[in-house]
Amino acid sequence: MNNETLLYDDGHHKCIMFSLEDEEHSNYSLSVNQFLIIQNDAAILIDPGSAAIFGELYDAISAHIDPSHLKYIFFSHQDPDVAGAIDQWSVATSASLVISNLWVRFMGHYGLMDMGRIMGLEDHGAMIKFGNDFLQFIPAHFLHSPGNFSLYDSRSKILFSGDIGAAVASPQNLNKRVDDFEEHRPYLEGFHSRYMASNIFCRAWVECVRRHEVEIIAPQHGSIFKGEVAQKFLSWFEEVEGGEEQVATLYGLKR
Ligand code: FE
Repeated sequence: MNNETLLYDDGHHKCIMFSLEDEEHSNYSLSVNQFLIIQNDAAILIDPGSAAIFGELYDAISAHIDPSHLKYIFFSHQDPDVAGAIDQWSVATSASLVISNLWVRFMGHYGLMDMGRIMGLEDHGAMIKFGNDFLQFIPAHFLHSPGNFSLYDSRSKILFSGDIGAAVASPQNLNKRVDDFEEHRPYLEGFHSRYMASNIFCRAWVECVRRHEVEIIAPQHGSIFKGEVAQKFLSWFEEVEGGEEQVATLYGLKR
């Protein structure tokens, strides 16, 4: 099975998507993606996942770059399918571990010993220089985690969106790319209407994202959105009501 997709390559800057899954739980319905950005001899790894795939992912990135050249490992949020192997990555590399400040104190529960390795992100995010370009950590709080960030790569114009854009059981997950947004939409709806907190956060995120030129939106689960399909996704996402609506209905609350 081909579990590697080249998203961008201009000879100096490369973005690779890996789709490695814990085989015992493998099921295309919630395909998990990990990402690597390489510029010359520096790299950043994005949402590396759980301990179950640590060895396989380490080998996969080693085919592209010496893992000791990883400068940063970015965790969009605290979930085990994102940060579960943070202790192993801290031992295997010398990278700075980037995550929301909200989650720093919890990382010890995944076995992380040296909290000094963490570069905690303030709520407003951060911009870091990466080679000749920059990486922007865009706030995505409550979508779904209260301390959550997306990552925008200015060179490739790819937005790594974490759980935003995750599709469950979409047939288009098999080819990793959404060709028809309307066909894919039903597989986004259930996840986003329950996992995203409220419409105000969806709108705020879309507004931040629209300040950047985005070619590809690459979520941690499911398929990527490219070009016009990415724009259709943003227009759809800013209308998502999220869990607030569901909870209000559940409790019969007036809004
Ligand atoms: Fe999550």
